[in-house]
Amino acid sequence: MTNIKNYRNIGISAHIDAGKTTLTERILFYTGINRKIGEVHDGLATMDWMKQEQERGITITSATTTCFWSGIDNKYDQHRINIIDTPGHVDFTIEVERSMRILDGAIMVYCSVGGVQPQSETVWKQVNKYSIPRIAFINKMDRLGSNYFDIINQIKNKLNCNAVPLFLPIILKDTFLGLVDLIEMKSIYWNENNYGSEFFFDKIPDDMLNISNYWRNNLIEISVESSESLLNKYIDNNLSNKDIIFGLRKKTLDNSIMLITCGSAFKNKGVQPLLDMIIEYLPSPLDIPDIKCIEIGKENKKEIYINALNKNFSALVFKIYSDPCIGNLTFFRVYSGNIKSGNFVFNSNKNCKERLGRIVQMHANNKFEIKEVNSGDIAAVIGLKNVSTGDTLCDIKFNPIIFENIEFPNPVISIAVEPNTKLDQDKMSIAISKLLQEDPSFKSYVNNDTGQTIISGMGELHLEILTDRMKREFNIDFKMGKPEVSYRETIKKLVRKEGKYIRQTGGRGQFGHVFIQIEPCYDKNYIFVNNIIGGAIPKEYIPSIDKGIQEQMKIGILAGYPIVNIKVSCYDGSYHPVDSSEIAFKIAGSIAFKKAFLDADPVILEPIMKVEVITPIEYMGDIIGDLNKRRGIINNIKENFNNKIIISYVPLSEMFGYSTDLRSKTKGRANYSMEFLKYKESPKYILDKIINKKNINNK
Ligand code: GDP
Repeated sequence: MTNIKNYRNIGISAHIDAGKTTLTERILFYTGINRKIGEVHDGLATMDWMKQEQERGITITSATTTCFWSGIDNKYDQHRINIIDTPGHVDFTIEVERSMRILDGAIMVYCSVGGVQPQSETVWKQVNKYSIPRIAFINKMDRLGSNYFDIINQIKNKLNCNAVPLFLPIILKDTFLGLVDLIEMKSIYWNENNYGSEFFFDKIPDDMLNISNYWRNNLIEISVESSESLLNKYIDNNLSNKDIIFGLRKKTLDNSIMLITCGSAFKNKGVQPLLDMIIEYLPSPLDIPDIKCIEIGKENKKEIYINALNKNFSALVFKIYSDPCIGNLTFFRVYSGNIKSGNFVFNSNKNCKERLGRIVQMHANNKFEIKEVNSGDIAAVIGLKNVSTGDTLCDIKFNPIIFENIEFPNPVISIAVEPNTKLDQDKMSIAISKLLQEDPSFKSYVNNDTGQTIISGMGELHLEILTDRMKREFNIDFKMGKPEVSYRETIKKLVRKEGKYIRQTGGRGQFGHVFIQIEPCYDKNYIFVNNIIGGAIPKEYIPSIDKGIQEQMKIGILAGYPIVNIKVSCYDGSYHPVDSSEIAFKIAGSIAFKKAFLDADPVILEPIMKVEVITPIEYMGDIIGDLNKRRGIINNIKENFNNKIIISYVPLSEMFGYSTDLRSKTKGRANYSMEFLKYKESPKYILDKIINKKNINNK
């Protein structure tokens, strides 16, 4: 069993295409987990195991895996490294967020040519949010135009980070050969043909001695800043390499520096020293700060802190995946204590007890059964029923505790899905409930107007992946609408109208007759007031009038969208002692409401999004022009090192296809995020367009 001080829970995060999946493949190969290397462009990367990932060559879901490492020359005890590979696309940043929440350290991957990209800054912000210590790997050093020191400067300037080189690249006539190790002051060269698993050490090339000494001194100066005793050793000329490492580790752990190395994952060079860096500089579960949580006692709640040495079991659920073969897989990170399969745990968020079934160690989508999980580890359990992402699991014998939950964004784009057969309909409800449990940024509801099932997500790619999974994993046949905006309808002025429903066709007739007033009401979606005096309408018919109006509001009048922000007062009417009925007053209510609504300056409200674009300055003009064309209003422009952050308010209907447009306009160098801001009246021509569309659909 690995000692907890030898655990490392790390994430690998970067801009899309920087090479993190390729790098992970090498790590798995050198640590003996994989016997051969799977390449991303062949659709064979181990961690991109979902079909949708392999086809698109992108990482969508964060995958976890475990490997073991004892150092490039076997100088360490065996260390256990749990790795979470995280996606780069904005639609899936939720995956990054939830893995950050449970990681102790991170490797930031940058491309040696592209450098710090907008997405790298987004990821940087996320890593900062959780104060995770990090090291950096500048990848693709084999590429023409690679520039190690230029990227280090970008990291310093754009990310405001104290980037400190620990290794230097050895480049001969544009060929990247190996690294200079600034601690050991020696070089390492790789044999490219052997997947880089063979390498040899040598002395530093003569022409690199000066620069190596310069950067070693830089390391020493930074290291000795960390404590007085190191400084004294340095002054006494008594500082060992171990001391230097000690100081650098301390500064990495308190997040005041980021150590940098480089390599070429694709050409199999420079990965083993990075593994050594994980061991030397990134924290074990014992090094992370104590974790704040709420203890729920019998009478009161109190804030407590727990650490990895606490004996009572506690864990955070950070991901749920519904595996078509074995059911729910619940991923959790153990923060304290230990748990065995078959034990009961208490889910403090759900306030219920559940028995743990089989516990497995995940390697991408392969599972290896284990009997127990210890403090500091990451594992998955099969078959938990009542659990959601972000729940705390804890010991049933003690007061329950709750960790701070993970924050999830609201979905913004919807699409209608229509099962082809009754069987598909049944399968779809099961699929949706499973996907909902897995993905907190996915939502679903049934549109009362059309009876269609609507699913909503974070963006078009997100919906594309979800629907693809419903088709393939859950084997459902269904038609899909185009992604759509959810509009609302409302009115702008006060109107009074009469509604009559009178039928006399022999026998018992129908008689309902009402007068209502409708007016805008901004703080509530709907208020109904009964102002009838003197029994003009008997009391028992009033709820029917209300009901008739509410049913009409659900299905809209202008274009079939829900009606909001209206106050209705019923102030007069009449009745017939025989012919009046609930149904007659319900219909009369809805007739009056429809007439009043159409006379009350009805409008369509559209969702307005807050859109934040991060872009290099040269694209700013184009981006602002484009946002204006999309009816966007620029709210603010902020500086971010060499980038600009443009904050604007844009109707959601104008944002379809934006990620592709932005990417092509800026060669993929700008990045954006958006969130719902408010509903706002849409211009007249948009209203006309929506109504036209409705009329065409109804023909
Ligand atoms: P991710 O999106 O960050 O996971 O990046 P991938 O690992 O999918 O790599 C993106 C592309 O860059 C793929 O075509 C890789 O083969 C390529 N790539 C990755 N590492 C290197 C490298 O070190 N050198 C070169 N030249 N290409 C690389």
